[in-house]
Amino acid sequence: MARVVVLGGGFGGVAAATELRDHLRADGEVVLVDRRDRFAMGFAKLWDLAGLRPIAAGTRVLRDLQGRGIRVVQADVTGIDADAHHVETSAGGFDADALVIALGSRPSPRHRRLLDGPGAHDLYDPEALPAIRADLAAITDGRVVVSILGGPFKCPPAPYEAALIVDTLLRDRGVRSDVEVVVTTPQPMALPVAGVDASRYVADHLGDHGVTLRSEHRVEDVDPDRQTIRFAGDHTELGYDLLLGVPADALPQVLADSGLAGASGWLEPDPATLQLGDERTVAVGDCTRIPTATGQLPHAGVFAAAQGRVAARNLLAALTGGDGERFDGHGYCFLELPGERVAFVEGDFYADPPDVTLTPADHAQFRRKQAYERDHLAAWFG
Ligand SMILES: Cc1cc2nc3c(=O)[nH]c(=O)nc-3n(C[C@H](O)[C@H](O)[C@H](O)COP(=O)(O)OP(=O)(O)OC[C@H]3O[C@@H](n4cnc5c(N)ncnc54)[C@H](O)[C@@H]3O)c2cc1C
Repeated sequence: MARVVVLGGGFGGVAAATELRDHLRADGEVVLVDRRDRFAMGFAKLWDLAGLRPIAAGTRVLRDLQGRGIRVVQADVTGIDADAHHVETSAGGFDADALVIALGSRPSPRHRRLLDGPGAHDLYDPEALPAIRADLAAITDGRVVVSILGGPFKCPPAPYEAALIVDTLLRDRGVRSDVEVVVTTPQPMALPVAGVDASRYVADHLGDHGVTLRSEHRVEDVDPDRQTIRFAGDHTELGYDLLLGVPADALPQVLADSGLAGASGWLEPDPATLQLGDERTVAVGDCTRIPTATGQLPHAGVFAAAQGRVAARNLLAALTGGDGERFDGHGYCFLELPGERVAFVEGDFYADPPDVTLTPADHAQFRRKQAYERDHLAAWFG
């Protein structure tokens, strides 16, 4: 009897666990370990901020996976011995025949500290949502800054989506003319991973809404007393009344301690098979760094889920024989604009240069984004 232990119940882990359960022999065991009790869709957070829908509507209880034969253990993963396929957790140790590592990322601790002061929040922290909403409802003049603090960060379009939501909320309250909205990024353009045209598309939309984009602005420090950001290089400063920061992703501590990270400081699985070290260990999603011609594969749920499925197929081939699959770098990102319209950035992210095109925003693609969520939640959780 084969036992596969899946570490992490996010996009990558749930996609892998369900694929494994569907195809592993009935006497095989799939165990999924996560410290959280719920799965949540990342983009639901901005729908909540925009007032479209509460975040809870896109969440599912991980234990519901037990109904389809996956054993769910709510526990902290505290140690990983990949060579021995052994895992330590707060609920005890697990010996496995194969491992899926899908522990995602955590916010950079340094960047979180920069956001400790008054009027500053981690835009990506679901717990910060009520405070962000309250501050946006109270502001009557001054400046809101959405600031990308470093990379890699999750879902490259999301900070721009957030800035446009801020613009809409301020317009709805009739205070937009007295509140400046600025986005800062250390990158040379808005969406380098999607190319020059997509970046110009984003910049044009921000401009149309009166949102200022400051590219090549790397945050060096934040002074909480003066509510001021200091940028590297020429040390320009920018004051804020409300700062919505996007921290860089960092590797979860247990992975940093495991000795599994490569020279980049991230897990570096084979880009096609997702195998890490031996053929019975795979790593997918935000805990990995997969190099591309322009940097790295975006940290995004769509990619994590696609990788999880392919990685599961390769574990099944290693355990029971047969052909595996290859992840070919095809994928897409949604770029949501006001008025329930979504632009679509799609293509071959592994090509050199990436062969990625942007389809301008429309409502049909907004429905495609809704369908992505609905279909995946139904396929995974029933
Ligand atoms: C505001 C926002 C908007 C987004 N919009 C989109 C979008 O439109 N499209 C898109 O594709 N992506 C989007 N994303 C990104 C997407 O949510 C992530 O890229 C995706 O969740 C990564 O999947 P993952 O499986 O690698 O990690 P995760 O989904 O983060 O899952 C990792 C899991 O591991 C668990 N874990 C970690 N460490 C431990 C431990 N030591 N012990 C036990 N459990 C542990 C965590 O609890 C978590 O459940 C968005 C993200 C944000 C924040």
